[in-house]
Amino acid sequence: MVRQRNATASAIMRTIVRQGPLGRKELAAVTGVSFTTITKTVTELLELGALTEVPPSAPRGAGRPVTPLDVPAVGRLVVGGHLHPESTSCGAYTMRGDVVTWRSAPASGGTQRERIEEAAELVEEIVAEVGSAAVIGIGMTTPWAELHHGQPPPLVADVDPHALYTGLRGHLSHPVRVEPNVRAQALEHYWWAQGGDDVLTVLVGRSVGVALMRGDDLVWDGPGAGGLVSHLIVPGSTFPCECGQIGCVKATCTDDALLRRAVDSGLLPPGSLQRDLYPKDDTEGLRQLRQARAEELGRVVPLIMSLVAPTETTVRGRLGTPEEIESCIDMIRVRYRELVGREAKVRFYDRRRPDYWPHASAALALDSYLASPLWHEGDRALRDRAVAVG
Ligand SMILES: [Zn+2]
Repeated sequence: MVRQRNATASAIMRTIVRQGPLGRKELAAVTGVSFTTITKTVTELLELGALTEVPPSAPRGAGRPVTPLDVPAVGRLVVGGHLHPESTSCGAYTMRGDVVTWRSAPASGGTQRERIEEAAELVEEIVAEVGSAAVIGIGMTTPWAELHHGQPPPLVADVDPHALYTGLRGHLSHPVRVEPNVRAQALEHYWWAQGGDDVLTVLVGRSVGVALMRGDDLVWDGPGAGGLVSHLIVPGSTFPCECGQIGCVKATCTDDALLRRAVDSGLLPPGSLQRDLYPKDDTEGLRQLRQARAEELGRVVPLIMSLVAPTETTVRGRLGTPEEIESCIDMIRVRYRELVGREAKVRFYDRRRPDYWPHASAALALDSYLASPLWHEGDRALRDRAVAVG
């Protein structure tokens, strides 16, 4: 019974977040749930404050005016945080993804534990700033699990997701969701950027990660449960991987692999960072390195696409100059056509905004909330009471 109510509440809230304000009749039509059940559940969500009624515009013809329902503009916020090698950032957003507040602080922690503590403190500050009661959840992004399982992890920012989760829970009682960054991007696209419902997201960064939105769901649930492409072999690659294979994605076309190659060949000094692959004063050597990587991606990404068969593929990451990006996407398109005999819907997609990662991370929290709004509302009320008593 409760499960059923929650499923209906979830369908209502998800439809409104995806499609904008809707009336009860339209909700019944879109969700396929009876008008009576919709009306009852909407009443419950209104009482909880999870939905609001939008003042109706001029009545359309005769009869009662339609009162559209919407998610609250204030009172329900999601928080997102991110650990970058050089900074920690965190922001609070409305359920529509509009920024309420955000900031970024230079990283100072020298150990993983210190970085986690620093992140937890920043998140705590943001939560306090917007009001703890308004926050319905916290999303945090990390690189793919393999990076923090390296011994030792390559960077201090490659914190263990479980340790990060525990660290945050030590400061806050809100629901916390920690996921690899590409999964947050896929959700941000779906909930806040009109992404389709069958989209493969490929993030090229220090690792190459993929995430798939299929139907209403982000598949490969949880970190490490799938979507790891690091040890797929790039056709033609001769770079040895630490796993024992030759030509893995990880050893061939990640930023980490490129960086190692750039340092080994003297193009960059030891200790260089990912961003040094994309300097303002570009060099021919780096250009060639990135161009070779674009071609490698052009050979391996179509293999992933042909396995998953998404309606649409988006490639993200810095990759290089606009020309390098364009040639990479072209090569993916051409190779896909050769392999599959169909045109691929593939494009480079990056929404550059200063609060890019906090924003994407917050989508993780939204997604969890929308999956079970009534449970979350129950927890929220309990937290409120605990704060009032304590
Ligand atoms: Zn490998």
